Amino acid sequence: MSAGGEKASGDTVLVVGGGGREHALCWKLAQSPKVGAVLCAPGNAGTGTEPGVENVPVQDDDLPGLLALAKERAVDLVVIGPEKPLVMGLTDELEAAGFLVFGPSKAAAELEGSKAYSKSLMKRAGVPTAAFETFNNAHAAADWISGRSEQALVVKADGLAAGKGVLVCDTRDEAMDAVRRVLADREFGDAGTRAVVEEKLVGEEASVLAIVDGTTIIPLPAAQDHKAALDGDRGPNTGGMGAYSPARVVHERRMQQVVEQVFIPIVHRMQRDERPFRGILYAGLMFTRRGPMVLEFNVRFGDPEVQPLLMRMSSDLYPLLKATAAGKLGDAEAPTWDDRAAVCVVMASEGYPGPYETGKTIRGLPEAADLADTEVFHAGTKFGPAGADGHESVQTAGGRVLGVTALGDDVTDAKRRAYEAVRRIRWEGAWCRTDIADKGR
Ligand code: AMP
Repeated sequence: MSAGGEKASGDTVLVVGGGGREHALCWKLAQSPKVGAVLCAPGNAGTGTEPGVENVPVQDDDLPGLLALAKERAVDLVVIGPEKPLVMGLTDELEAAGFLVFGPSKAAAELEGSKAYSKSLMKRAGVPTAAFETFNNAHAAADWISGRSEQALVVKADGLAAGKGVLVCDTRDEAMDAVRRVLADREFGDAGTRAVVEEKLVGEEASVLAIVDGTTIIPLPAAQDHKAALDGDRGPNTGGMGAYSPARVVHERRMQQVVEQVFIPIVHRMQRDERPFRGILYAGLMFTRRGPMVLEFNVRFGDPEVQPLLMRMSSDLYPLLKATAAGKLGDAEAPTWDDRAAVCVVMASEGYPGPYETGKTIRGLPEAADLADTEVFHAGTKFGPAGADGHESVQTAGGRVLGVTALGDDVTDAKRRAYEAVRRIRWEGAWCRTDIADKGR
Protein backbone atom coordinates (compact mmCIF):
# COMPACT_ATOMS: atom_id res chain seq x y z
CA MET A 1 0.00 0.00 0.00
CA SER A 2 1.22 3.48 -0.76
CA ALA A 3 2.19 6.23 1.64
CA GLY A 4 -1.31 7.66 1.85
CA GLY A 5 -3.27 4.49 2.61
CA GLU A 6 -6.80 3.73 1.43
CA LYS A 7 -9.79 5.96 2.20
CA ALA A 8 -12.56 4.31 4.17
CA SER A 9 -15.06 4.19 1.32
CA GLY A 10 -15.56 5.23 -2.26
CA ASP A 11 -14.95 3.83 -5.71
CA THR A 12 -11.78 2.12 -6.91
CA VAL A 13 -10.21 3.49 -10.08
CA LEU A 14 -7.51 1.81 -12.14
CA VAL A 15 -5.25 4.15 -14.13
CA VAL A 16 -3.27 2.35 -16.86
CA GLY A 17 0.19 3.75 -17.70
CA GLY A 18 3.29 5.03 -15.96
CA GLY A 19 4.22 8.48 -17.30
CA GLY A 20 3.67 12.11 -16.34
CA ARG A 21 0.16 11.97 -17.80
CA GLU A 22 -0.78 9.08 -15.52
CA HIS A 23 0.77 10.71 -12.44
CA ALA A 24 -1.29 13.85 -13.09
CA LEU A 25 -4.46 11.74 -13.61
CA CYS A 26 -3.83 9.77 -10.38
CA TRP A 27 -3.13 12.97 -8.43
CA LYS A 28 -6.38 14.54 -9.60
CA LEU A 29 -8.53 11.40 -9.21
CA ALA A 30 -7.22 10.76 -5.68
CA GLN A 31 -8.62 14.18 -4.66
CA SER A 32 -12.17 13.15 -5.56
CA PRO A 33 -14.44 12.63 -2.54
CA LYS A 34 -16.12 9.84 -4.53
CA VAL A 35 -12.88 7.87 -5.00
CA GLY A 36 -11.66 5.54 -2.26
CA ALA A 37 -8.59 4.09 -3.96
CA VAL A 38 -6.56 4.70 -7.11
CA LEU A 39 -4.49 1.87 -8.56
CA CYS A 40 -1.81 2.68 -11.13
CA ALA A 41 -0.43 -0.01 -13.46
CA PRO A 42 2.54 0.08 -13.62
CA GLY A 43 2.97 3.67 -12.32
CA ASN A 44 6.31 5.23 -11.35
CA ALA A 45 7.99 6.56 -8.20
CA GLY A 46 5.68 9.60 -8.28
CA THR A 47 2.42 7.63 -8.31
CA GLY A 48 4.02 5.29 -5.73
CA THR A 49 4.34 8.15 -3.22
CA GLU A 50 1.11 9.98 -4.08
CA PRO A 51 -1.36 9.81 -1.16
CA GLY A 52 -4.27 7.47 -1.97
CA VAL A 53 -2.50 5.85 -4.94
CA GLU A 54 -1.11 2.31 -5.09
CA ASN A 55 1.25 1.05 -7.80
CA VAL A 56 0.58 -2.41 -9.20
CA PRO A 57 3.35 -4.05 -11.25
CA VAL A 58 1.35 -4.83 -14.41
CA GLN A 59 2.63 -3.34 -17.70
CA ASP A 60 0.33 -1.11 -19.77
CA ASP A 61 0.36 -3.50 -22.77
CA ASP A 62 -0.30 -6.66 -20.70
CA LEU A 63 -3.98 -6.99 -21.61
CA PRO A 64 -4.66 -10.30 -19.76
CA GLY A 65 -2.80 -8.98 -16.68
CA LEU A 66 -4.84 -5.76 -16.64
CA LEU A 67 -8.12 -7.65 -17.05
CA ALA A 68 -7.18 -9.95 -14.17
CA LEU A 69 -6.25 -6.94 -12.01
CA ALA A 70 -9.56 -5.18 -12.74
CA LYS A 71 -11.45 -8.34 -11.70
CA GLU A 72 -9.36 -9.03 -8.61
CA ARG A 73 -9.77 -5.49 -7.26
CA ALA A 74 -13.38 -5.08 -8.53
CA VAL A 75 -12.57 -1.68 -10.01
CA ASP A 76 -15.39 0.78 -10.73
CA LEU A 77 -13.66 2.62 -13.58
CA VAL A 78 -10.57 2.00 -15.73
CA VAL A 79 -8.83 5.10 -17.16
CA ILE A 80 -6.41 4.25 -19.98
CA GLY A 81 -3.60 6.80 -20.40
CA PRO A 82 -1.37 5.80 -23.35
CA GLU A 83 -2.32 5.12 -26.99
CA LYS A 84 -0.75 1.66 -27.25
CA PRO A 85 -3.22 -0.31 -25.08
CA LEU A 86 -6.09 1.62 -26.70
CA VAL A 87 -4.96 0.67 -30.20
CA MET A 88 -4.45 -2.93 -28.98
CA GLY A 89 -8.10 -3.09 -27.86
CA LEU A 90 -7.88 -2.94 -24.05
CA THR A 91 -11.16 -1.01 -23.83
CA ASP A 92 -13.05 -3.70 -25.78
CA GLU A 93 -11.69 -6.50 -23.59
CA LEU A 94 -12.54 -4.72 -20.34
CA GLU A 95 -15.99 -3.68 -21.55
CA ALA A 96 -16.75 -7.24 -22.67
CA ALA A 97 -16.04 -8.30 -19.07
CA GLY A 98 -18.50 -5.67 -17.80
CA PHE A 99 -16.12 -2.88 -16.72
CA LEU A 100 -16.69 0.83 -17.22
CA VAL A 101 -13.79 2.22 -19.25
CA PHE A 102 -12.61 5.76 -20.07
CA GLY A 103 -10.90 5.46 -23.46
CA PRO A 104 -12.00 4.63 -27.01
CA SER A 105 -12.59 1.18 -28.48
CA LYS A 106 -10.00 -0.43 -30.74
CA ALA A 107 -12.00 0.62 -33.82
CA ALA A 108 -12.25 4.25 -32.68
CA ALA A 109 -8.57 4.33 -31.59
CA GLU A 110 -7.62 3.70 -35.23
CA LEU A 111 -8.00 7.46 -35.55
CA GLU A 112 -4.53 7.62 -33.96
CA GLY A 113 -3.37 4.09 -34.85
CA SER A 114 -3.62 4.64 -38.61
CA LYS A 115 -2.94 7.94 -40.33
CA ALA A 116 -4.41 6.53 -43.56
CA TYR A 117 -7.72 5.81 -41.78
CA SER A 118 -7.65 9.17 -40.01
CA LYS A 119 -7.07 11.08 -43.28
CA SER A 120 -9.75 9.18 -45.18
CA LEU A 121 -12.22 9.77 -42.33
CA MET A 122 -11.43 13.49 -42.33
CA LYS A 123 -12.05 13.57 -46.07
CA ARG A 124 -15.43 11.82 -45.72
CA ALA A 125 -16.44 14.02 -42.79
CA GLY A 126 -15.41 17.21 -44.62
CA VAL A 127 -12.86 18.17 -41.93
CA PRO A 128 -10.18 20.59 -43.20
CA THR A 129 -6.81 18.83 -43.53
CA ALA A 130 -3.80 18.88 -45.90
CA ALA A 131 -4.38 17.34 -49.36
CA PHE A 132 -2.89 13.84 -49.33
CA GLU A 133 -2.39 10.44 -50.98
CA THR A 134 -1.79 7.06 -49.33
CA PHE A 135 0.80 4.57 -50.64
CA ASN A 136 2.05 1.09 -49.81
CA ASN A 137 4.82 1.09 -52.39
CA ALA A 138 7.87 3.37 -52.49
CA HIS A 139 8.01 3.49 -56.34
CA ALA A 140 4.38 4.57 -56.66
CA ALA A 141 4.92 7.24 -53.98
CA ALA A 142 8.09 8.52 -55.71
CA ASP A 143 6.25 8.70 -59.08
CA TRP A 144 3.47 10.73 -57.51
CA ILE A 145 5.93 13.07 -55.74
CA SER A 146 7.89 13.72 -58.96
CA GLY A 147 4.65 14.80 -60.67
CA ARG A 148 3.82 17.43 -58.00
CA SER A 149 4.37 21.12 -58.57
CA GLU A 150 5.18 22.06 -54.95
CA GLN A 151 8.56 21.37 -53.33
CA ALA A 152 7.54 21.05 -49.67
CA LEU A 153 5.76 17.83 -48.66
CA VAL A 154 5.27 15.83 -45.47
CA VAL A 155 5.74 12.04 -45.37
CA LYS A 156 4.09 10.11 -42.53
CA ALA A 157 4.40 6.45 -41.54
CA ASP A 158 0.85 5.12 -41.19
CA GLY A 159 1.09 3.45 -37.78
CA LEU A 160 2.23 4.34 -34.25
CA ALA A 161 5.89 5.43 -34.26
CA ALA A 162 6.21 7.19 -30.88
CA GLY A 163 5.91 10.61 -32.52
CA LYS A 164 8.90 9.92 -34.80
CA GLY A 165 7.21 8.76 -38.02
CA VAL A 166 6.57 12.24 -39.49
CA LEU A 167 9.16 13.61 -41.93
CA VAL A 168 8.71 17.24 -42.92
CA CYS A 169 10.52 17.75 -46.27
CA ASP A 170 11.44 21.02 -47.96
CA THR A 171 12.25 19.56 -51.38
CA ARG A 172 10.84 16.79 -53.60
CA ASP A 173 14.19 14.98 -53.38
CA GLU A 174 13.94 14.93 -49.60
CA ALA A 175 10.37 13.60 -49.86
CA MET A 176 11.48 10.80 -52.22
CA ASP A 177 14.21 9.88 -49.76
CA ALA A 178 11.61 9.93 -46.95
CA VAL A 179 9.21 7.53 -48.71
CA ARG A 180 12.12 5.19 -49.32
CA ARG A 181 13.05 5.30 -45.63
CA VAL A 182 9.45 4.62 -44.54
CA LEU A 183 8.20 2.14 -47.18
CA ALA A 184 11.33 0.39 -48.51
CA ASP A 185 13.87 0.52 -45.63
CA ARG A 186 11.11 0.15 -43.00
CA GLU A 187 12.90 2.54 -40.69
CA PHE A 188 9.74 2.69 -38.54
CA GLY A 189 9.05 -1.05 -38.71
CA ASP A 190 5.46 -2.15 -39.32
CA ALA A 191 4.25 1.43 -38.81
CA GLY A 192 5.63 1.96 -42.33
CA THR A 193 3.57 -0.70 -44.14
CA ARG A 194 1.73 2.29 -45.60
CA ALA A 195 2.64 5.97 -45.84
CA VAL A 196 0.66 9.17 -46.21
CA VAL A 197 2.22 11.93 -48.32
CA GLU A 198 0.62 15.35 -47.87
CA GLU A 199 1.04 19.03 -48.61
CA LYS A 200 3.06 21.03 -46.09
CA LEU A 201 0.94 23.57 -44.23
CA VAL A 202 2.14 26.89 -42.87
CA GLY A 203 0.71 28.60 -39.81
CA GLU A 204 0.55 28.58 -36.03
CA GLU A 205 0.30 25.20 -34.30
CA ALA A 206 -1.81 24.40 -31.22
CA SER A 207 -3.77 21.49 -29.82
CA VAL A 208 -7.39 21.42 -28.72
CA LEU A 209 -8.67 18.52 -26.63
CA ALA A 210 -12.28 17.59 -26.09
CA ILE A 211 -13.98 15.06 -23.87
CA VAL A 212 -16.47 13.06 -25.95
CA ASP A 213 -18.98 10.34 -24.96
CA GLY A 214 -19.96 9.26 -28.48
CA THR A 215 -22.24 12.24 -29.13
CA THR A 216 -21.72 14.99 -26.53
CA ILE A 217 -18.56 17.10 -26.91
CA ILE A 218 -17.00 19.27 -24.18
CA PRO A 219 -13.90 21.15 -25.37
CA LEU A 220 -11.17 21.70 -22.78
CA PRO A 221 -9.17 24.96 -22.51
CA ALA A 222 -6.43 25.16 -25.13
CA ALA A 223 -2.89 24.21 -24.18
CA GLN A 224 0.34 24.53 -26.12
CA ASP A 225 3.08 21.95 -26.16
CA HIS A 226 6.81 22.43 -26.98
CA LYS A 227 7.92 19.53 -29.19
CA ALA A 228 11.45 20.63 -30.06
CA ALA A 229 14.32 19.72 -27.72
CA LEU A 230 16.03 23.12 -27.61
CA ASP A 231 15.16 26.73 -26.80
CA GLY A 232 13.63 28.69 -29.67
CA ASP A 233 11.97 25.50 -31.01
CA ARG A 234 15.28 24.26 -32.41
CA GLY A 235 16.75 20.77 -32.39
CA PRO A 236 15.14 17.36 -32.82
CA ASN A 237 11.53 16.58 -31.91
CA THR A 238 10.77 15.01 -28.54
CA GLY A 239 7.70 13.67 -26.74
CA GLY A 240 7.22 17.24 -25.45
CA MET A 241 9.51 19.45 -23.34
CA GLY A 242 6.84 21.56 -21.66
CA ALA A 243 3.36 23.00 -21.98
CA TYR A 244 1.17 25.82 -20.72
CA SER A 245 -2.49 26.71 -20.51
CA PRO A 246 -4.40 28.83 -21.41
CA ALA A 247 -2.93 29.20 -24.91
CA ARG A 248 -3.84 32.56 -26.39
CA VAL A 249 -3.33 31.42 -29.98
CA VAL A 250 -6.64 29.57 -29.68
CA HIS A 251 -8.86 32.56 -28.95
CA GLU A 252 -12.62 32.27 -28.71
CA ARG A 253 -13.37 32.59 -32.42
CA ARG A 254 -10.77 29.96 -33.32
CA MET A 255 -12.12 27.62 -30.61
CA GLN A 256 -15.61 27.96 -32.09
CA GLN A 257 -14.28 27.20 -35.59
CA VAL A 258 -12.49 24.11 -34.28
CA VAL A 259 -15.64 22.82 -32.59
CA GLU A 260 -17.82 23.45 -35.65
CA GLN A 261 -15.40 22.43 -38.39
CA VAL A 262 -13.48 19.63 -36.67
CA PHE A 263 -15.06 18.07 -33.58
CA ILE A 264 -18.73 18.02 -34.57
CA PRO A 265 -18.23 16.52 -38.06
CA ILE A 266 -15.73 13.86 -36.88
CA VAL A 267 -17.76 12.78 -33.85
CA HIS A 268 -20.96 12.55 -35.91
CA ARG A 269 -19.25 10.71 -38.76
CA MET A 270 -17.82 8.14 -36.32
CA GLN A 271 -21.22 7.72 -34.71
CA ARG A 272 -22.81 7.07 -38.12
CA ASP A 273 -19.99 4.66 -39.03
CA GLU A 274 -20.79 2.69 -35.84
CA ARG A 275 -17.37 3.49 -34.39
CA PRO A 276 -18.54 5.95 -31.71
CA PHE A 277 -15.69 7.84 -30.06
CA ARG A 278 -15.61 7.87 -26.26
CA GLY A 279 -12.70 9.40 -24.39
CA ILE A 280 -10.32 12.27 -25.12
CA LEU A 281 -10.23 13.44 -28.71
CA TYR A 282 -7.08 15.47 -29.29
CA ALA A 283 -6.80 17.55 -32.45
CA GLY A 284 -3.30 18.68 -33.46
CA LEU A 285 -4.03 21.80 -35.53
CA MET A 286 -2.38 24.32 -37.80
CA PHE A 287 -4.11 27.71 -37.96
CA THR A 288 -3.53 28.64 -41.60
CA ARG A 289 -4.78 31.46 -43.81
CA ARG A 290 -7.48 28.99 -44.91
CA GLY A 291 -8.58 28.50 -41.27
CA PRO A 292 -7.85 25.66 -38.85
CA MET A 293 -6.56 22.45 -40.46
CA VAL A 294 -6.01 19.12 -38.71
CA LEU A 295 -2.45 17.71 -38.68
CA GLU A 296 -3.37 14.64 -36.66
CA PHE A 297 -5.76 13.20 -34.13
CA ASN A 298 -4.72 11.53 -30.91
CA VAL A 299 -7.13 9.45 -28.89
CA ARG A 300 -5.91 10.27 -25.36
CA PHE A 301 -4.66 13.14 -23.22
CA GLY A 302 -1.47 14.74 -24.54
CA ASP A 303 1.54 14.54 -22.27
CA PRO A 304 2.71 17.05 -20.98
CA GLU A 305 -0.38 19.19 -21.92
CA VAL A 306 -2.55 17.26 -19.45
CA GLN A 307 -0.36 18.39 -16.54
CA PRO A 308 -1.12 22.14 -16.71
CA LEU A 309 -4.72 21.34 -17.74
CA LEU A 310 -5.42 19.23 -14.66
CA MET A 311 -3.71 21.79 -12.41
CA ARG A 312 -6.26 24.30 -13.73
CA MET A 313 -9.33 22.04 -13.38
CA SER A 314 -11.17 23.14 -10.24
CA SER A 315 -14.03 20.62 -10.50
CA ASP A 316 -13.94 16.89 -9.75
CA LEU A 317 -12.47 14.85 -12.64
CA TYR A 318 -13.93 11.49 -11.56
CA PRO A 319 -17.67 12.07 -12.28
CA LEU A 320 -16.74 13.52 -15.67
CA LEU A 321 -14.69 10.49 -16.71
CA LYS A 322 -17.29 8.08 -15.33
CA ALA A 323 -20.18 9.80 -17.15
CA THR A 324 -18.16 9.75 -20.40
CA ALA A 325 -17.45 6.03 -20.02
CA ALA A 326 -21.19 5.40 -19.50
CA GLY A 327 -22.13 7.53 -22.56
CA LYS A 328 -23.91 10.03 -20.26
CA LEU A 329 -21.72 13.11 -20.50
CA GLY A 330 -24.83 15.22 -21.15
CA ASP A 331 -26.00 14.48 -17.58
CA ALA A 332 -22.67 15.40 -15.96
CA GLU A 333 -21.78 18.82 -14.59
CA ALA A 334 -19.52 20.75 -16.95
CA PRO A 335 -15.93 21.04 -15.69
CA THR A 336 -14.85 24.35 -14.15
CA TRP A 337 -11.43 25.94 -14.51
CA ASP A 338 -9.14 28.05 -12.37
CA ASP A 339 -8.63 31.43 -14.08
CA ARG A 340 -4.95 31.28 -13.28
CA ALA A 341 -2.39 30.00 -15.77
CA ALA A 342 -0.32 26.82 -15.40
CA VAL A 343 3.11 26.02 -16.84
CA CYS A 344 4.82 22.62 -16.98
CA VAL A 345 8.60 22.38 -17.53
CA VAL A 346 9.90 18.90 -18.43
CA MET A 347 13.25 17.93 -16.89
CA ALA A 348 15.04 15.31 -19.00
CA SER A 349 18.01 12.94 -18.91
CA GLU A 350 21.29 13.94 -20.57
CA GLY A 351 21.23 12.78 -24.20
CA TYR A 352 17.43 12.68 -24.61
CA PRO A 353 15.82 12.40 -27.22
CA GLY A 354 18.87 10.32 -28.24
CA PRO A 355 20.37 7.56 -26.07
CA TYR A 356 20.63 8.33 -22.34
CA GLU A 357 21.65 6.63 -19.10
CA THR A 358 19.22 5.87 -16.29
CA GLY A 359 19.60 5.11 -12.58
CA LYS A 360 20.76 8.61 -11.54
CA THR A 361 19.63 9.61 -8.04
CA ILE A 362 17.26 12.61 -8.03
CA ARG A 363 17.72 15.10 -5.20
CA GLY A 364 15.69 18.09 -4.05
CA LEU A 365 12.18 16.65 -4.57
CA PRO A 366 11.01 17.47 -1.00
CA GLU A 367 12.37 21.04 -1.33
CA ALA A 368 10.43 21.52 -4.60
CA ALA A 369 7.28 20.04 -3.03
CA ASP A 370 7.42 22.73 -0.32
CA LEU A 371 6.51 25.42 -2.87
CA ALA A 372 2.85 26.46 -2.98
CA ASP A 373 0.72 25.72 -6.06
CA THR A 374 3.47 23.53 -7.50
CA GLU A 375 3.33 19.82 -8.35
CA VAL A 376 6.22 17.69 -9.53
CA PHE A 377 4.69 15.02 -11.76
CA HIS A 378 6.97 12.05 -12.38
CA ALA A 379 7.43 10.48 -15.82
CA GLY A 380 10.53 8.23 -16.12
CA THR A 381 11.32 7.57 -12.44
CA LYS A 382 11.68 4.50 -10.22
CA PHE A 383 12.50 3.75 -6.61
CA GLY A 384 16.17 3.14 -5.78
CA PRO A 385 17.91 1.86 -2.63
CA ALA A 386 17.16 3.55 0.71
CA GLY A 387 19.41 6.43 1.77
CA ALA A 388 20.93 7.11 5.21
CA ASP A 389 17.50 8.35 6.43
CA GLY A 390 15.92 4.97 5.66
CA HIS A 391 13.73 6.38 2.86
CA GLU A 392 13.80 4.86 -0.62
CA SER A 393 15.64 7.08 -3.09
CA VAL A 394 14.11 8.17 -6.41
CA GLN A 395 16.10 7.49 -9.57
CA THR A 396 15.77 8.36 -13.23
CA ALA A 397 14.28 5.62 -15.43
CA GLY A 398 13.49 7.36 -18.74
CA GLY A 399 14.25 10.24 -21.10
CA ARG A 400 11.59 12.62 -19.85
CA VAL A 401 11.94 12.36 -16.07
CA LEU A 402 9.78 15.02 -14.37
CA GLY A 403 7.04 17.51 -15.31
CA VAL A 404 7.47 20.42 -12.92
CA THR A 405 4.12 22.22 -13.00
CA ALA A 406 3.04 25.44 -11.28
CA LEU A 407 0.01 27.71 -11.16
CA GLY A 408 0.48 31.48 -11.29
CA ASP A 409 -1.53 34.68 -11.70
CA ASP A 410 -0.64 34.70 -15.38
CA VAL A 411 1.66 32.74 -17.72
CA THR A 412 4.71 34.84 -16.69
CA ASP A 413 4.10 34.22 -12.98
CA ALA A 414 3.42 30.50 -13.52
CA LYS A 415 6.63 30.21 -15.54
CA ARG A 416 8.64 31.91 -12.77
CA ARG A 417 7.20 29.54 -10.16
CA ALA A 418 7.79 26.42 -12.24
CA TYR A 419 11.46 27.32 -12.84
CA GLU A 420 11.89 28.14 -9.12
CA ALA A 421 10.93 24.50 -8.41
CA VAL A 422 13.17 23.24 -11.24
CA ARG A 423 16.16 24.99 -9.60
CA ARG A 424 15.64 22.98 -6.41
CA ILE A 425 15.84 19.61 -8.22
CA ARG A 426 19.07 18.05 -9.47
CA TRP A 427 20.64 14.86 -10.76
CA GLU A 428 23.69 14.18 -12.89
CA GLY A 429 22.98 15.39 -16.43
CA ALA A 430 19.51 16.92 -15.73
CA TRP A 431 18.45 19.57 -18.23
CA CYS A 432 15.37 21.41 -19.46
CA ARG A 433 14.39 24.11 -21.94
CA THR A 434 14.55 27.58 -20.42
CA ASP A 435 11.89 29.23 -22.59
CA ILE A 436 8.75 27.19 -21.90
CA ALA A 437 5.59 29.34 -22.24
CA ASP A 438 7.43 32.39 -23.63
CA LYS A 439 5.21 32.25 -26.70
CA GLY A 440 2.15 32.42 -24.45
CA ARG A 441 3.05 35.72 -22.76
P1 AMP B 1 1.80 14.80 -36.47
O1 AMP B 1 2.31 13.67 -35.61
O2 AMP B 1 1.07 14.36 -37.68
O3 AMP B 1 1.11 15.89 -35.71
O4 AMP B 1 3.12 15.53 -36.96
C1 AMP B 1 4.14 15.94 -36.05
C2 AMP B 1 4.58 17.35 -36.39
O5 AMP B 1 4.94 17.44 -37.78
C3 AMP B 1 3.46 18.37 -36.22
O6 AMP B 1 3.37 18.80 -34.90
C4 AMP B 1 3.88 19.46 -37.20
O7 AMP B 1 4.84 20.32 -36.63
C5 AMP B 1 4.52 18.68 -38.31
N1 AMP B 1 3.55 18.43 -39.41
C6 AMP B 1 2.73 17.35 -39.56
N2 AMP B 1 1.97 17.45 -40.67
C7 AMP B 1 2.30 18.62 -41.25
C8 AMP B 1 1.86 19.32 -42.42
N3 AMP B 1 0.96 18.80 -43.24
N4 AMP B 1 2.43 20.51 -42.68
C9 AMP B 1 3.37 21.05 -41.87
N5 AMP B 1 3.83 20.45 -40.77
C10 AMP B 1 3.31 19.25 -40.44
